[in-house]
Amino acid sequence: MPTPGLAIRGPRSLLRQIREAMAGVGPTQAKLNMVVRTIAVSMVAEVCTIYLRRASGEMELFATEGLDPGAVHVTRLKAGEGLVGEIMRTGRPLNLSDAPSHPAFSYRPETGEDPFHAMLGVPLLRGGRAIGVLVVQNRTSRIYAEDDVEDLQIIAMVLAEMVAAGDLLSREELKDVEIAPRRSERLKGAKFADGLAFGVAVLHEAPVAVGRLLSDDAAAEEARLAAAITGLQTQIEAMLDGHSGVLGASYDVLETYKMLAHSRSWNHSLQEAVHSGLTAEAAVERVRSEHRAGIGQARDPYLRERVHDLEDLNDRLLRHLAGDGGKSRSLPDDAILIARNLGPADLLEYDRTKLKGLLLEEGSSASHAAIVARALQIPCVGRIAGLRDRVSEGDPVIVDAEIGETYLRPRSDVVKAVTARIKVRAERRAGFAKLRDTPAFTRDGAKIALLMNAGLAIDLDILAETGAEGIGLFRTEFQFMVSEDLPRFNAQADLYGRVMNAAGALPVTFRTLDLGGDKVLPYLQAEREDNPALGWRAVRMGLDRPALLRMQLRALIAAVAGRPLRVMFPLVATVEEFRLARAMVDREVAWALRRGRPAPSRLDVGTMIEAPSLLWHLDALLPIADFVSVGTNDLMQYLFAADRGNPRVSDRYDPLSPPALRALKAIEEACARTATPVSVCGEMAGRPLEAFALVALGFEALSMPPAGIGPVKQMVLSCDRGAASRGLDGLLASSAGSIRQDIEALARKLYIAA
Ligand code: PEP
Ligand code: MG
Repeated sequence: MPTPGLAIRGPRSLLRQIREAMAGVGPTQAKLNMVVRTIAVSMVAEVCTIYLRRASGEMELFATEGLDPGAVHVTRLKAGEGLVGEIMRTGRPLNLSDAPSHPAFSYRPETGEDPFHAMLGVPLLRGGRAIGVLVVQNRTSRIYAEDDVEDLQIIAMVLAEMVAAGDLLSREELKDVEIAPRRSERLKGAKFADGLAFGVAVLHEAPVAVGRLLSDDAAAEEARLAAAITGLQTQIEAMLDGHSGVLGASYDVLETYKMLAHSRSWNHSLQEAVHSGLTAEAAVERVRSEHRAGIGQARDPYLRERVHDLEDLNDRLLRHLAGDGGKSRSLPDDAILIARNLGPADLLEYDRTKLKGLLLEEGSSASHAAIVARALQIPCVGRIAGLRDRVSEGDPVIVDAEIGETYLRPRSDVVKAVTARIKVRAERRAGFAKLRDTPAFTRDGAKIALLMNAGLAIDLDILAETGAEGIGLFRTEFQFMVSEDLPRFNAQADLYGRVMNAAGALPVTFRTLDLGGDKVLPYLQAEREDNPALGWRAVRMGLDRPALLRMQLRALIAAVAGRPLRVMFPLVATVEEFRLARAMVDREVAWALRRGRPAPSRLDVGTMIEAPSLLWHLDALLPIADFVSVGTNDLMQYLFAADRGNPRVSDRYDPLSPPALRALKAIEEACARTATPVSVCGEMAGRPLEAFALVALGFEALSMPPAGIGPVKQMVLSCDRGAASRGLDGLLASSAGSIRQDIEALARKLYIAA
């Protein structure tokens, strides 16, 4: 809090003067000149200059007070040139006592800036993107005070919005100023959820509207801010309370949130910004960009993680300011949502019928947003560097999640081509839908069970639509990953019960919590590990901290309520681990019986095969497992020592290669020998060519993402398994790194639709 009695400093009156200057009539250049003059006078600067970026990337001097007026619209700096270029590049202020001695200084004689030593320049930021630079200069060598820097940043933020809104310069003058990108662009990212969509951009983190930036009533804004901060603090306290005594680890993150929400410097910065004449929302944005600039560049991953926490807190605070939780955004009919990343449940708050695609600047394929997008069958491309800088609300956008890229403001020929592809996809889908009730027999009479992978209640809506013969993998951790806080016994049992009801007579295989690795929870964060994929995760957590696993097993037993229960464990690496896990199930069944509750009518306990160690201990494992399921996503990751979430290495090794297929063959043969039911449930089971290889190896149960079932069934129906097996056997002896092309040729030769 500022000390009472002190004069409120800040640019409030300056902002008012700027507004007055703009309200006048007359040529816009004159208004702009008036603005720089007003700033110079108010900041006791001899020079005040505005540069704006042209579409060419050049920075043009648009107005100046103090430099030679002849330089206006004449001086142009190349992209990245000079101190102005440096400010644009970094998006950060530059405060120099002797600008000409800075190595990046670029001398322009026409400006007449020789005598000015001190310089303070700040970027005109709009939605995190620099559209220009505002500079003040003085003759004397001095470093501008921290307050000056802050004031100038606030003015720059307001100016940026005014320029963008067309308040300062006419459309004609702005013709080729890059306020918002206009060129057609194609950006590459990573495929998170398959599909193709064309629509208009909707920004999840919408910039504060220009009309909501300035306020004349600081006291009212301060009251709004204080109420919102209290609301935020109460919310975090409630989240903390919800966990007390359950899991120490989850405290860490919430405690950090609490610390930040109560942080005096954060509160103080927000209040200062409001005092200077900004609305509460603009103050949040203002302080947010300062933090971004401050720690966003940090190398330390811990610090970068704090940026993430701060961003999340800022978003929450804005929602509190909006008063309605910010949840009721209306969408155009063909919305493509653009976000940095999305938190748990964010996606579910949008109208599904209008949301056609999703583009993320960050994220991973295991992030909440990606999981929910896949479940909702919304095409999603993530990890698109610079996305939010390059797209504005309302821009036409294509999401090509078949390839993992996006077209912003696409040319009409690209739109035409993509629209045609969207139509073909819809027709193919309609074709697959016709196969829904056809059982999946190969031409030579082998029955292949095609099952669906699921994890959220929304998945159940499409179970019947796919014609799947059951749920071969229910990833229970998804419920945890999309929740704000830890789902308790009742929430878990409720979901499992709904899954059982939706499946009816079809079998469901529940997998116990597979957390850790790439699946991290904000509220259940374990210690930081250098190598989480090889760390304390999945069944390892379950065995070491049995409370959570026990609660889950109890919820499963309660939910099946006397019906059959199939349960399996993730990432088992030794037979002993499986034995211990299995014993826990038995104990929980006995516990239920002792309390007079029904035991499952039939109990099947199995394991995933994901750790390569199990391959050489199948003789010990299979006799004590009721079934196994091969998780090829992880098995391949560990077999090839290649992080599945790192695009640089994840596609470097091919599952259609002799080592991978021989490993799978060894599993299939061992299961056949011991009559142990086996399925494959990694993503490869849902790709027709890979599924063809699996069927040729002898697997008769494949569990896959819903969209895979149609194409894989079409493959099965056209497949002669005997011929395929003989053909593949010959290929397994190959010395090549990948035999994909040979398998493709084999499928073609046998007229198989793979
Ligand atoms: C796998 O690893 O193949 C698997 C199915 O499990 P998940 O993708 O959930 O790790
Ligand atoms: Mg796995």
